Amino acid sequence: MNMKRNARIALLLLLAAGLWLALKPTLGDRRFTFLPFRWSEFIDIMDFWLNFGSFAILGTTVWLAFGSFEKAFRHLLLMTGFITLLNITLELLQSAIPGRAMDMADVWAGLFGCVFGIAGGMVLQLLNIHRKSAGTEPQVLFLDQTGRLGGAELMLLDIAAARAADSEVILFQDGEFRTALENVGVKTTILKLGEEASTVDKQAGLKRVLRSIPGILQLMLQTVQAARSFDVVYANTAKALVIGGPAARLAGRPLIFHLHDIIADGHFSVLNQQALVLCANYCAQSVIANSEATKDAFIACGGRAELCVVIPNGFRIPIERSSPEETKSLRTSLGIPSDAWTVLMAGRLAHWKGQHILLEALKAVPTAHAVLLGDALFTDEDRKYAQQLHTQAEELAGRIHFAGFQSTTMPYFDMADVVVHASVYPEPFGRVIVEGMLAAKPVIASRAGGAAEIISHEHTGLLVNPGNVKELTDALLRLQNDSEFAASIAREAQQTAQDIYALSAVQEKIESVIHQIASQQEPQESLTIISSQKSPPCPA
Ligand code: UDP
Repeated sequence: MNMKRNARIALLLLLAAGLWLALKPTLGDRRFTFLPFRWSEFIDIMDFWLNFGSFAILGTTVWLAFGSFEKAFRHLLLMTGFITLLNITLELLQSAIPGRAMDMADVWAGLFGCVFGIAGGMVLQLLNIHRKSAGTEPQVLFLDQTGRLGGAELMLLDIAAARAADSEVILFQDGEFRTALENVGVKTTILKLGEEASTVDKQAGLKRVLRSIPGILQLMLQTVQAARSFDVVYANTAKALVIGGPAARLAGRPLIFHLHDIIADGHFSVLNQQALVLCANYCAQSVIANSEATKDAFIACGGRAELCVVIPNGFRIPIERSSPEETKSLRTSLGIPSDAWTVLMAGRLAHWKGQHILLEALKAVPTAHAVLLGDALFTDEDRKYAQQLHTQAEELAGRIHFAGFQSTTMPYFDMADVVVHASVYPEPFGRVIVEGMLAAKPVIASRAGGAAEIISHEHTGLLVNPGNVKELTDALLRLQNDSEFAASIAREAQQTAQDIYALSAVQEKIESVIHQIASQQEPQESLTIISSQKSPPCPA
């Protein structure tokens, strides 16, 4: 990458110097160049070889600055044509200067020099590629907007931990995510977003977005600076893309966008949907979608299909689960009777996650208890929703237990009889569903988005329509009353989850994207493809 940037600077200087030499102003019989008069005379005599030499250097530099092996032949023709045309134009201009004539030998010299130079540029680039492939791991700069630990951050924690020696993480907010990263040896830097910019959420309108611009620009410049020391920039969240995308381009580094969101109404305002897709289309060399649903929504919104690769989240498969004593003591600490049939709902408290749907459904499952694991993580709206849930829970007479956010979640899955996921909007992936399956628990999930891809209805879990209280109640009663069926889908779910979502396999896939993108020499190639690509309209 550095070679390409340096070559571009050298190209500009060469062109400026070449133009000056070619069009040396003449005053009387004296020509004014930046070279001493005598040298200038000498250069005129050496015209043929100088043309050959200077166009050979120009050819090499042009190749290094813009060349690509994938499209070598097209580039070769274009460059030879362009440089020869430039040479002829210069000769014609020269012939207009009094006392100077058009010299065809110079044109031929330029053409030969150019072909020779391009071949030289190809060899240099080839040597550079060999050096790279023989070299070390790609250095990756990960960007994430939050310091809290949501699903996207937990996935990044595992990816970055596995390549801690060759990575650094920049967070736009401090929090427990930084501590978690540092605990696994990942170098982490906090570059804070200004006050205005940090309050812009997924639903923000134009006014709030405009007010956030100065803060975003400042952060972007800091990110450009940081990105220059890495081979690849990896944006893990929406705001990280909006800042990291242009920053990566300015720094001349390729960008991977890990798409953990469904870009559609309900999750993002129309303005934010368009900004995200624009940034991804123009700045990213690869988009890792965590499910077919996130990929489809991205494409439906105008995202380029050819950028996308679907890689699900990966999970460590624990060798040991909680012992019966640990489970019993956890139940006691939460105030749950040891024989109570217990539902676990894990995940941040947010309206779209649908905790209120579960509480409503539990009214018709009178003996069941429920644990809500998680807290309101991101917005004031979420915090208000959490308060409403506490009020709603009062109607269920001590059957709802708020466990708050816990960094170790396995014991909670182990003590549950059933795991519920009740998002009212399509879930981009749904880590908690896989975690329930890995714990060999029957899972009920909303039939939408990534959840519907993870669960096969009545084989590895039960699917209910999002927001449908009656269907959720029926599914809960079915599992409560038919423990054999519950155990059989739980067994099948555990096997499926172990086969598909093992962390090592997922990490391998992500590493292969990183290596592929790091070895690409030409991130700006994508621009030509975008302009010829027709985008379907965003869904209403
Ligand atoms: N989680 C956690 N502590 C909690 C509650 C949830 O670590 O108290 C984890 C949960 O185990 C899961 C993640 O947070 O791995 C939530 O991911 P999911 O994909 O379900 O939702 P997201 O937060 O990405 O919308």
